[in-house]
Amino acid sequence: MRKPARIISFMVCTTCLLAGAMAGDDDPFAEARQDMIREIEADVRRTSLQLDTEALDPRVMQALATVPRHALVPGSLQDVAYENRPLPIGHGQTISQPYIVAIMTDLLKMTPADKVLEVGTGSGYQAAILAELVDRVYTIEIIEALGQQARAGLEALGYENITVRIGDGYYGWQEQAPFDAIVVTAAASHIPPPLIEQLKNGGRMIVPVGSRFMVQQLVLVEKDLQGEVVTRQILPVRFVPLTGTH
Ligand code: SAM
Repeated sequence: MRKPARIISFMVCTTCLLAGAMAGDDDPFAEARQDMIREIEADVRRTSLQLDTEALDPRVMQALATVPRHALVPGSLQDVAYENRPLPIGHGQTISQPYIVAIMTDLLKMTPADKVLEVGTGSGYQAAILAELVDRVYTIEIIEALGQQARAGLEALGYENITVRIGDGYYGWQEQAPFDAIVVTAAASHIPPPLIEQLKNGGRMIVPVGSRFMVQQLVLVEKDLQGEVVTRQILPVRFVPLTGTH
């Protein structure tokens, strides 16, 4: 019974995304963005066993079809901004692969009233995707130049519900906690205890765990209504390391 419902919502989603692309005929990146969406959909189907779904939430796909990724990558990489791969953004860091951004966002199962924390602002792209879906996004970047650049880029795009802070995200953002959802976009050797503390009961966190030269696992952390924490490995990934003094 669940599968046909998913297929129907997937078809509705694709139709509405294509309609959106047609509406933006003057957008020179519209076609590349649609190609990216199709590649993400294919990757999701290929990994459906690990993800436990054949298609992601249409709201997540709509956010990916909306955010101008080309505006958040270095100018010289705009032409390849919608390729389904990570890209360098300077300072030895990367903007994550669109498919990975999509599944991490989907796994958080956010609702519009949610308050979300991101650790690792980078280009600001993941923050923009989150901001399309929820009320408030708090994002922390440890490299000052990147944080400032992302802040300026997100402001230029008109995102008023994102606050960027420069600092070590390992310790979270105590003044704004608790969070309904937390996404960590750099690989940690362990799940940071301060982030578990700052997650609301009933909340979800997604975090890549592992070291630079070994296989990392994307881990979903769920805190139930009683505050009990359970974790589940989703799939192997490769992220830049979570740095800092911890
Ligand atoms: N989410 C980003 C985007 O959409 O472009 C991509 C993030 S990139 C894969 C990881 C980022 O995490 C880098 O910008 C890196 O500087 C940052 N980072 C690493 N350790 C950090 C820490 N302890 N606190 C905050 N940011 C950190």
